[in-house]
Amino acid sequence: MLFDAADYDAHEAVHFASDAASGLQAIIAVHSTHLGPAAGGCRWWTYADDAAALTDALRLSRGMSYKNAMAGLPMGGGKAVILKGAPKTEEMLEAFGSAIDGLGGRYVTAEDVGMSDADMTVIARRTRHVSGLPVAGGAAGGNPGPSTAEGVFVGMRAAVRHKLGRDLAGTHVAVQGLGSVGHALVRKLAAAGAKLSVADIDEARAARVADEVGATLVDNAAIMTVAADVFSPNALGAILTEFSIARLDVAVVAGAANNQLATPADGARVAARGILYAPDYVINAGGIINVATEYLGSGDAAGVAAQIARIEGRLADIFAEADASGRATDAVADAMARKLIGRG
Ligand code: NAD
Repeated sequence: MLFDAADYDAHEAVHFASDAASGLQAIIAVHSTHLGPAAGGCRWWTYADDAAALTDALRLSRGMSYKNAMAGLPMGGGKAVILKGAPKTEEMLEAFGSAIDGLGGRYVTAEDVGMSDADMTVIARRTRHVSGLPVAGGAAGGNPGPSTAEGVFVGMRAAVRHKLGRDLAGTHVAVQGLGSVGHALVRKLAAAGAKLSVADIDEARAARVADEVGATLVDNAAIMTVAADVFSPNALGAILTEFSIARLDVAVVAGAANNQLATPADGARVAARGILYAPDYVINAGGIINVATEYLGSGDAAGVAAQIARIEGRLADIFAEADASGRATDAVADAMARKLIGRG
């Protein structure tokens, strides 16, 4: 079943980890170690079934190969998912740490949805192949959310400049998801003078953040159809479908959510509507730049900031290439990434 799975892309290895005592059930997918250790966060999530969890791990790990390559990092791509079932205890996280350690450094974990930097500290009791630990000010590392938000901010600036020929001041951005990334992002956008419409499935959080940044609160079910300049998805993936793309009322899609395109055909659908899509794994690389720098011990916060700033130029290159070649932006980015990981 695995080798025929739609999202299986000659992944180097897929590991299934379980621990009866703590109830751990995890999948660790190693897509590519061509450029270095397979790096990518761990997601703690409820899946419809095991096959859905596997699909998520396969897709997310391939995305990490592309993301790390396009971020210019000496790291491959991997991802882990822990199936939400038994409560997330220290024992479970330690067992997960042991499973990672058994891979001998071929996979390096970090935070993703449902995981915190405190969880990383527990995992680190059993393995050193973990990043995103809490850090002192000035050092690289820690919660990657704010770094991701910074990358999305400069990437959105590139997209708005390319598509609309303007700056973010006065640009209307509809933001879906106000968690670690979305909250930091709307603070930056508000400071830059953007007009904001926001929504989150957690209505209390949405109301709190809207109040804090002076945004218009939108019903979560309506955020993707708001008439705005930019739609910024910062919740979960697969939100750009044939159905939702037809209803978008924006010029740009630029946000942090992983795997925004539900199917490979959806990138072309967005382009056909004249909407500029900032490929997710290029624009959301700020967090991985931060955690990779921490893990590799290759720089400080200033170095991380300089690398994140390059996301703006990288996206401008992709947009220009898409215009020149008539291809959708996701196809241009994928081709660039596959070349970098030796699969071009
Ligand atoms: P988070 O868990 O901190 O926040 C997610 C937010 O989205 C929460 O406020 C949640 O209530 C909300 N949400 C969930 N489902 C929703 C729905 N259906 N509609 C509207 N809101 C919904 O996660 P995060 O770290 O902010 O990450 C957000 C997205 O960005 C994820 O797709 C993640 O994979 C991606 N991403 C995150 C990072 C990072 O550094 N944290 C890096 C790259 C990509």
